Amino acid sequence: MYNDFQKHLTEELHSIEEAGLYKNERIITSAQQAAIKVSTGKEVLNFCANNYLGLANSPELIKAAKEALDTHGYGMSSVRFICGTGDLHKTLESKIAQFFGTEDAILYAACFDANGGVFEPLLDEKDAIISDSLNHASIIDGVRLCKAQRYRYANANMEELEKCLQDAQAQRFRLVVTDGVFSMDGNVAPLDKIYALATKYNAMVMVDESHSAGVVGRTGRGTTEQFNLRGKIEILTGTLGKAFGGAVGGFTTGKKEIIDMLRQRSRPYLFSNSIPPMIAAAGIRMFDMMTETNELQDKLHSNTDYFVAKMKAAGFDIKPTQSAICAVMLYDAKLSQQMAAKLLDEGIYVTGFYYPVVPKGLARIRVQVSAGHEVEHLDKCVAAFTKIGKELGVIK
Ligand SMILES: *Cc1c(COP(=O)(O)O)cnc(C)c1O
Repeated sequence: MYNDFQKHLTEELHSIEEAGLYKNERIITSAQQAAIKVSTGKEVLNFCANNYLGLANSPELIKAAKEALDTHGYGMSSVRFICGTGDLHKTLESKIAQFFGTEDAILYAACFDANGGVFEPLLDEKDAIISDSLNHASIIDGVRLCKAQRYRYANANMEELEKCLQDAQAQRFRLVVTDGVFSMDGNVAPLDKIYALATKYNAMVMVDESHSAGVVGRTGRGTTEQFNLRGKIEILTGTLGKAFGGAVGGFTTGKKEIIDMLRQRSRPYLFSNSIPPMIAAAGIRMFDMMTETNELQDKLHSNTDYFVAKMKAAGFDIKPTQSAICAVMLYDAKLSQQMAAKLLDEGIYVTGFYYPVVPKGLARIRVQVSAGHEVEHLDKCVAAFTKIGKELGVIK
């Protein structure tokens, strides 16, 4: 059997390569931070990590994790409901709920699991899920696992959302689901309008805060802070793998009964190991840091404003952003790859995105700004973009 299957896979892989879609992974040999070492021995400035608050190599989080290794050991070897619940897990869940101003929270191994396990236990064929067309893959997969009727609206298009809500009036319960920040453009979901429509048409709302938590809102509480809707959104999901330290872990937070039901019925929670104690301990320390000071958010916001202004002044076409994501529009797929490669030679690590990750003809380089960047890093990045941009005729 395997001979035939091997031939099939080889052909498929070859066609992926032919189409120029084969993903090669660059190898980092240092810790994840602003200046990283790659396997060629070169040191480059990293502008493509989700390390928004620069905490991925935070001495404070490392210290908290090391202490927990000594007090709580390495792993839990169990799902939560059998014997995988530690005091650190419970404390972290309550810190998450405090941070977002919600009633309770439940941990998962990843936000992919949080989204995979949120719909199926709560809704069935009598209900409706209304989803933004640019929602993350894990939301799409989670919705697929649920029997609810599906509706889809174009990204942040409120006319289409209203039409979906009207069409879904026959269903018992309605849930509108959106990413908080859309990762390819950096735009924030218009949660004020979504909430108003949901209220008008008697629906609940879920926001995936993966790219917005820690980033959006003056104190980084996410889209509910930005739109003054703290405590009003029924379900929030998020990750500990981006701004919040960058290790691993996900969560769902929101109304008490919803979280209760997930603990009873959510399959990735019931049938998958609980996160290691050291991750929970570092998470607790991280949320404590967020309540002690707003320094990292302030620095991230000023870094982002600075970078976007400099890039625009240099003549680049930047998508309007309300997050730490800055899409430098190049439109041409090949150009995006060429430019990213040349930037790497200049010591700037960024990634070019093109179809099918973004629509055809809308290729871009996505720059992710971090509180871990210093002004000289940002200046170096802008200078490299300007040099290569001129070389390739992107700017004059
Ligand atoms: C990154 C991301 C996820 C997945 O988070 P993990 O914790 O890495 O699984 C889910 N949703 C969105 C919107 C994301 O950006």
